[in-house]
This record gives sequence, structure tokens and C-alpha cells, in this order.
Amino acid sequence: MGLAGSGVAGAMLPHASAFALSDRERQFIAEAARMKREAVADGDQPFGAVLVKAGAIIGYGPSRVIVDRNPDAHAERVALWDAQKRLGTTDMAGTVMYSTSRPCALCERALAAANVDRMYFGPDGADGGKPRSS
Ligand SMILES: [Zn+2]
Repeated sequence: MGLAGSGVAGAMLPHASAFALSDRERQFIAEAARMKREAVADGDQPFGAVLVKAGAIIGYGPSRVIVDRNPDAHAERVALWDAQKRLGTTDMAGTVMYSTSRPCALCERALAAANVDRMYFGPDGADGGKPRSS
């Protein structure tokens, strides 16, 4: 964004980052950030997440803790619930979570229970590995 109009895409420059993200992964991270902005615009907490399956977003999660007055409605669980509703199943095997912050223990447990394969978080897409239930 900051480089927009300069003709130089910062992400394209070689750098020493340990992360080698594909353009597609960057899109998912950007979508999670968009969910975060949506949450903030609605007066909620600054968190966002998306759940991805086979290269497509199947669940969108802006934080809804304040708007819905639901302490469980963290961005990651909102994205999970959205995907489960859309797909008509609680089994999210084969899916990957992208969120703007590292999922809290309760969200990670929910992701593990739903068989989510992997989670990435933060602006650089840090690899959180397979969600664990403990
Ligand atoms: Zn959480």
C-alpha cells in the first residue's frame, strides 16, 4: 500500500525473510487483514481471519465479540463457524486458517476439534503448525 504508485512492489524484492510465501498465500493474509479492518469499522476488536480449502476462502471471520456480545466470537472461530455453516459439516479437514494474530488457546482448540490442517498468522504469515487441542 505504501508503495502503491511507485511502480515498485516491496513484496517482489529479494529479502532475507525466513518465509517464502506464494502470491496466493499473501492474498489470504490480505483477506484476513481486510476482515480485521471490517471488524474495526464495525466497532469490534482488531482481529480478522479466513479459512481456506483447496485454494479458496470458505469462511470469513471478522471479530464479533463486541458487536454480537459474544465472548466466543473471536475472528478465528467466526471464520470456522462461517465455513462449517457454508459447507454443512463440522469436519474441516483439508483446510488452512489465516489470521491476523496467533489464535488463542480456545480458538486453537476449536480448530483442532474441527480437524483444521494448519494455521498461519500475522502480517508475515508465521507458520503456527497443526492446531493442537491442549
Ligand atoms: Zn481466540
